[in-house]
Amino acid sequence: MKFDETPIVKDPAKEGLSPPNIRENASAAVRCYPSKPKDTQAIGLPGERVPNWQEKGIAKFAELLEKNKALRVYMDICVRCGACTDKCQFYLGTGDPQNFPVMRAELMRKVYRRYFTPAGRANTLSEAADFDEEMLEKWYTYFYQCSECRRCSVFCPYGIDTAEITMAAREIMASIGVSTKYVTEVVAKVYERGNNLGIPPAAWKDNCEFLEQDVEEETGKPIRFPVDDYGADILLVPPSADNFANVDTMIGYGKLFYALGIRWTTSTYCNEGGNFGLFLNYQNLKKVNKRIIDAARMLNVKTIIWGECGHAWRGAILTPTLNGPMDMFDPPYPYHISQFIVKMIRQGAFEGRIDKSANDDYIVTYHDPCNTARAGQLLDEPREILRYCVNHFIEMPRNTIREKTFCCGAGGGLLTDELMPIRMAGGKPRAMAVKHTGANYLATICAICKAQLPESMHYWDVPVKVGGTIDLFARALLL
Ligand code: SF4
Ligand code: SF4
Repeated sequence: MKFDETPIVKDPAKEGLSPPNIRENASAAVRCYPSKPKDTQAIGLPGERVPNWQEKGIAKFAELLEKNKALRVYMDICVRCGACTDKCQFYLGTGDPQNFPVMRAELMRKVYRRYFTPAGRANTLSEAADFDEEMLEKWYTYFYQCSECRRCSVFCPYGIDTAEITMAAREIMASIGVSTKYVTEVVAKVYERGNNLGIPPAAWKDNCEFLEQDVEEETGKPIRFPVDDYGADILLVPPSADNFANVDTMIGYGKLFYALGIRWTTSTYCNEGGNFGLFLNYQNLKKVNKRIIDAARMLNVKTIIWGECGHAWRGAILTPTLNGPMDMFDPPYPYHISQFIVKMIRQGAFEGRIDKSANDDYIVTYHDPCNTARAGQLLDEPREILRYCVNHFIEMPRNTIREKTFCCGAGGGLLTDELMPIRMAGGKPRAMAVKHTGANYLATICAICKAQLPESMHYWDVPVKVGGTIDLFARALLL
């Protein structure tokens, strides 16, 4: 296959994109560990299942239906056409029909019909069900086997967004004291330490200093990774994983700003772009987002730039709605590192300063993270960056990229060890599409994808290196 060909796959099964299921109908047995009271209490949720949880859960459901009109519409308008059934990677991977988006949503619709329709209230509707222990267990299992990726919504003729249904179900469960250890632990760490990994400020600073030494040794240039620099031009909010796991991405930010002569900083109050509130409830989504704005105000920066993180960007684009206008910043709306690089490319800032051959070891393909692509409309920018800094770029099949991208298999709060069978199963469609290209470098702009994809690619025997777009850009950049 030649570089830059973008085949459309008409029959995914024939093309090896819908491989046989690994654990037919076995996903019901896989569940997240439940949250710990110390974490839930720290983030404003009940420490354990509340008394009268059924009643309180239904009251919360009523509140969400009132606040979110789209949710009521999604409850009412599904015609069960089936167009979404084979579009979810967790169904394609597990073979469990309960992972059909329509069946997942049906768990909530049954409860909706029972309590919010006249026939349901009169108990004369067979398609209705009580919100009882058995139903709650199904909610807990299957709404945490959905990565809130929205792929199904692209194929629904009515635009039903099952991710919104998942979010509402999780919000209801959180309100009655039912949530997962992984998600609540991460949110609690953000309030305590400023980031998802729980890195203390001193360790963050130390690591930035180590990076400076390493990069100076490698390049001979005094490239800085500044922390809490009051009055800097730019506050960078990367996913905290960039400073510890995806170090090439962090180095990429440093080289980029050095090359442009820009004064930038990170903040120890908020060194996390990621927002796990998105996977839990509205209150925490808003509160985690606010920390970014507060950090920018504390450091009196002109601009906030979000780093390579999917759910960070999905949270970021909600900032003006959740947290008020961003008029004090330039630009007065959320700004992503990919948008910034593209703007600089178009202004000619890197003319004569890029050596694409530095990346000639790689045949590169690009994985659209669900949250930057479907939820965040960053579709062209990463591709423009890659084409600018590599000679060999190839797209995956057209029905697996851009708005139709497959989830990596671990978004939406699923990147936890106890869900490994679901993660590997859900990661299979993406792995097969990568295999189809023959690429040996899988670029992406999301920290969760960067954590999941090496494991799922290895599991499905697809030999690629996984890294950021900025990693490749920085390799090609002449300093
Ligand atoms: S595609 Fe839409 S209308 Fe059809 S079954 Fe799925 S959610 Fe319902
Ligand atoms: S939002 Fe994504 S993970 Fe959830 S049901 Fe739809 S396709 Fe599946």
